[in-house]
Amino acid sequence: METIKRNILLNPGPSTTTDSVKFAQVVPDICPREKEFAGLMKGLREDLVRIVHGDLEKYTSVLFCGSGTINIDVCLNSLLPENKKVLVINNGAYSTRAVEVCQYYGLPYIDLRFPVDQIPDLAVIEDAFRNNPDIGLVYATHNETGTGILNPIKEIGALAHKFGAAFAVDTTSTYAMRPINIEDDNIDFCMASAQKGLMAFTGLSFIVGNRKMIKKSADYPKRSYYCNLFLQYDFFEKTGEMHFTPPVQTIYAAIQALREYWAEGEKAKWARHTRVFHAINRGLDELGFRQVIKPEWRAGLVSSAIYPDDPNWDFEVVHNYCYERGFTIYPGKISKTNTFRLCALGAIDEGDIREFFKVFKKALENTGVQIPVRYND
Ligand SMILES: *Cc1c(COP(=O)(O)O)cnc(C)c1O
Repeated sequence: METIKRNILLNPGPSTTTDSVKFAQVVPDICPREKEFAGLMKGLREDLVRIVHGDLEKYTSVLFCGSGTINIDVCLNSLLPENKKVLVINNGAYSTRAVEVCQYYGLPYIDLRFPVDQIPDLAVIEDAFRNNPDIGLVYATHNETGTGILNPIKEIGALAHKFGAAFAVDTTSTYAMRPINIEDDNIDFCMASAQKGLMAFTGLSFIVGNRKMIKKSADYPKRSYYCNLFLQYDFFEKTGEMHFTPPVQTIYAAIQALREYWAEGEKAKWARHTRVFHAINRGLDELGFRQVIKPEWRAGLVSSAIYPDDPNWDFEVVHNYCYERGFTIYPGKISKTNTFRLCALGAIDEGDIREFFKVFKKALENTGVQIPVRYND
């Protein structure tokens, strides 16, 4: 097997992949309408449910060809009954994206906002239910990737169910990393894509959801054709195939990534991501960087560091220096504070982070940034 230059991606996805996953895409040409290919997809769909410990009778997974945002689109446009509202629990950029999807489809929604560095207040959420008996669908983000805050999914889900609403959660940046139990965590629908926790490639996204609720949604208003959850589910159930052309090679890579997922194991994998996350935080602490989210609220995968008050700090220059040496860092996603992010996704370990910080520190020194970094207040 050839070797390919190994880049360490510290951006919030796509993530660093193994060479075996990269090479799994190189396969003989095949028409995806062949039985052989449908057989591969059956196993893949079941594995995706198993990752969140779902009972295969009760839960299923539905695949889509697209980046992770397609899942947000599909869940919102497909799962809202007539004359009902969506409640979006919004404390960050990804939940704001869900609000925008509601706006684009003209769905009635409540944008229940909380500060980006705060956990949503459950009492406020409960009030929203009491004041709006027509809430039919609740939407939240598990790990708000813009900041790295962990939202109390299980508690929000319990409230949704208490008030008779379905609960959809964006788990794109936790799935196959931070362990999830779909039923115990009160989730009806969760979503992810192959390029994050699974450490495979962009182009394959999926929703793991409650089968009965998907069937029930057949009677809900149809707002999209390509992005309708029931239509795609029903086609899978009848034919074993995706309704339209699947991302063939991406699926081969995802299947290899799943083999590697089971071989590493849920616990060991989460322990590895945690090791990487601690190494990132140690490195940031040593250089004096402040972070947006307080330690006990972090989801354990994304660190959001605040730009120092140093006239020599230039994110672009630091980024370029690191990038040229095989390390990718990423800007933040908060409107009022300037931040950059370092993420613990992908096929990397703490040794990679130690190497990264040598390079990063050098970048700061070269540009004349004072170490430890300074802040004005
Ligand atoms: C990465 C991510 C997405 C998907 O983003 P795409 O750019 O469409 O892949 C959605 N939600 C969360 C929380 C994410 O981290």
